[in-house]
Amino acid sequence: MTTPLRLAVPNKGRLAEPAIDLLHSAGLEFELSERRLSAAVRNADIELLFVRTDDIAEYVADGLVELGLTGADLVAEHGGELHTVLPLGFGACSLVLAVPRDGELATAMDLAGRRIATSFPRVTAAYLASAGVEAQVVEVRGAVEVTPQLGVADAVVDLVASGSTLRMNGLRPIATLLASEAVLVARNGTADADDRVSGLIDMLRSVLDARGREYMMMNAPVEALERIRELIPGLSGPTVMPLADPAFIAVHSVVERSQLWRIVPALKAVGARDILVVPIEKVVR
Ligand code: AMP
Repeated sequence: MTTPLRLAVPNKGRLAEPAIDLLHSAGLEFELSERRLSAAVRNADIELLFVRTDDIAEYVADGLVELGLTGADLVAEHGGELHTVLPLGFGACSLVLAVPRDGELATAMDLAGRRIATSFPRVTAAYLASAGVEAQVVEVRGAVEVTPQLGVADAVVDLVASGSTLRMNGLRPIATLLASEAVLVARNGTADADDRVSGLIDMLRSVLDARGREYMMMNAPVEALERIRELIPGLSGPTVMPLADPAFIAVHSVVERSQLWRIVPALKAVGARDILVVPIEKVVR
């Protein structure tokens, strides 16, 4: 018996639920126990280990697990020999340099000789070095955004999604150090040869490709086909089928959900009728 492929997943925090949801959507069957330490996947040779989001890059780097699901920001901060196997399209945020809104600091250059509080000391130091700025990096764990008010720092490097927490604390961003999202990571060179990894990636990708897309069906007059083709190019062009009435055709296609509001009225205007839009679960290429 081989050892199962081990995948570390956040046990709590903002990436935990979307991660579980993605794995379930990809068809992995597992139960979450009360204490959420680990779970054996029933229908694949995979074991899930639930650990702190912050520790996942280290688990992968140390070889305790073959794969990890965590934030790209944390992978960058870890700085180890890790590579991103698949970006996962959730947990989007940016790591920004922010300064007091009403202060005299305006650019990274103004930070020379100042103190910058962050939970990302490695990424921050690399950014300052590349900008040629000598400043003191003060490592703090949590509540980074209040440090300028407390007199602990002059500026911060912190994660933001909407930016409202920064604004509430009188800070404004002046530079973006990195854009992050949840990612699947492996240790350099370890995942490539394992079929279980490529199988998992294919299933995850099929779910991610389906997200934000819908399957659209309609009946339309034959002469509208060219115009419909322009409106809904589809993944590899729309499927066109004859109907009992030779003057009409049925057209099926995959469309971006965000484009529906634009496409539907245009389709109606060229004579499409009985338009059905249904969800897509997976797109396997
Ligand atoms: P947790 O502290 O467990 O809730 O997860 C933190 C991770 O969630 C970060 O490392 C980011 O990858 C991700 N994330 C997404 N949006 C945000 C945000 N607005 N603030 C902090 N972390 C975020």
